[in-house]
Amino acid sequence: MAGIYIHVPFCQSRCAYCDFYSTTLSEEWKSQYLSALQREMQARRYEVGDTEIDTLYLGGGTPSQLPPTLLERLFGMVTGLFSLKENAEVTVEANPDDVTPQWLESLHRTPTNRISMGVQTFDDNLLALLRRRHTAIQAFEAVEACKTAGYENLSLDLIYGLPGQSIGMWRKDLAQIAKMDVPHLSAYALQYEPGTELYRMRQNGNVEEADEELSLEMYQELCSAASAMGMEHYEISNFSRPGKRSRHNSGYWSQEPYWGFGPGAHSYDGARCRRWNNAQLKAYIEAEGDVPHGSETLSDEECYDELVMTRLRTIDGLPLSLLSQENRIYCLRMAERHLNSGKMTLKDDVLRIEESGIFVSDDILSDLMR
Ligand code: SF4
Repeated sequence: MAGIYIHVPFCQSRCAYCDFYSTTLSEEWKSQYLSALQREMQARRYEVGDTEIDTLYLGGGTPSQLPPTLLERLFGMVTGLFSLKENAEVTVEANPDDVTPQWLESLHRTPTNRISMGVQTFDDNLLALLRRRHTAIQAFEAVEACKTAGYENLSLDLIYGLPGQSIGMWRKDLAQIAKMDVPHLSAYALQYEPGTELYRMRQNGNVEEADEELSLEMYQELCSAASAMGMEHYEISNFSRPGKRSRHNSGYWSQEPYWGFGPGAHSYDGARCRRWNNAQLKAYIEAEGDVPHGSETLSDEECYDELVMTRLRTIDGLPLSLLSQENRIYCLRMAERHLNSGKMTLKDDVLRIEESGIFVSDDILSDLMR
């Protein structure tokens, strides 16, 4: 398995909870970004060599902010430089308000076969509070339009624990998802990231964080609703119908190699080396292909932490055969308390976090790390 990630750093406006890198610049910058991306991919093509690519993921930012000509140009560059497997999973992230007939028509001229859409909630007041640019109806219509255009392989993103969101409102969101009948769902508890508008609003007392009890109730509702939709809870925040897991993200969670292109994109060689590009668009464009970046070689301890952090996120768990004898002993010692409480299990030499432990998985993972 090998993947390519391309970061598209444009958003029409910034959502109140978001600390991802994005910018709101003109069409001229988008075109310059694309030329810089081409230079970077050409300069680093040797890293990929003849590797056949299983998954290609356009994330952001908002890839659907690229006008059709640039979107098609981007795919033309990627397929010209790299070899995509015939059954490759090709995902594009989209915002509901960008999903127009023209955009979908353009998407058909690319190898895209999966769309990941941020709907976040179906409550218009909460959408406005989050500074999302779409309404619930627009999200619903966008999903229908994707399906009509033949894109059945859809993933929707939701956020719960929003300020003022009651359990009843959350149930309504989940019921709406069930009606939309999509094969993949990602649902995240709201995080107040420093530097975001929502973080400032909380500091100023304008919004209140959902308490632990309500968050847990929402999480439990999420798990039972997803199960009723025939979805498997295959990763902490991800649910899918059989055969519809995100192959790209699953690669991240099983230490498969990937190459990231674009400002802020990360790469990993599948062993010990990581690389991350400078996130500033201007520096990226001016770099003439020699993109400013950082890199690191993971120590034994960091490799162990990496295995714990990624493998235990998923239902497939951590095969202890991947650990050295010393790390195996350490890991089992640190897991003992959670094994005794039933939040973790050990079966056939594979350590897993059980459904009852997922809500506190951050604590479990930090207990097990070096
Ligand atoms: S949530 Fe998505 S659309 Fe909103 S600012 Fe962040 S990257 Fe852009």
